[in-house]
Amino acid sequence: MRDGRPEVGFVGRSNVGKSSVMNRLVGRKGLAKTSSTPGRTRSVNYFLINRRFWFVDLPGYGYAKAAKDDRREWAALVESYLKDAASRLRLVLLVDAKVGATPLDVQAFEYLSGLGVALIVAATKVDRVPRGQRAGVLRVVRGALGLGDDFPLIPVSAHSGEGMKELWGAVVPHLEASTRE
Ligand code: GDP
Repeated sequence: MRDGRPEVGFVGRSNVGKSSVMNRLVGRKGLAKTSSTPGRTRSVNYFLINRRFWFVDLPGYGYAKAAKDDRREWAALVESYLKDAASRLRLVLLVDAKVGATPLDVQAFEYLSGLGVALIVAATKVDRVPRGQRAGVLRVVRGALGLGDDFPLIPVSAHSGEGMKELWGAVVPHLEASTRE
């Protein structure tokens, strides 16, 4: 949105749990629509939070046998959004902890990093991974995406609420810095 308020964008594979994370973060069930028919969102949706900043729900990617055209459409949508918002934006890329980083996640990560946007990666649905396996699972995600040790990778669960504080913590400095400008 071009009103100067900072933005936090959320992006990830269809069904990764994006809507659930956005809803859980702000404690509002109906903010972003969770869906049992993935691949539906084909637009960029804006939610004004506390009148101070925007949550931006970017279309999911990689639904079923998404054709090349679909990927191009996704890239075009995301790119036109990013062109407008890049300087006010922090982007949260969501990867399913149970599924791991798929080749499309890796592509999306590389593509988004290449655009020079500030990125955070969150691993969703960690409640589905037994505690004893979590460190290993996160290491594999780090390896697949080529994340350095300092790169923020935050395990979250919209169901249990785990990691929500940490995700907020990663996003807040950006919101505060933008508000001071
Ligand atoms: P989106 O397509 O990325 O917006 O994903 P949704 O938020 O609609 O969630 C897709 C599916 O994953 C739904 O069936 C959710 O109930 C489920 N889901 C979302 N978050 C979690 C989570 O933290 N843990 C578990 N176990 N399932 C989740």
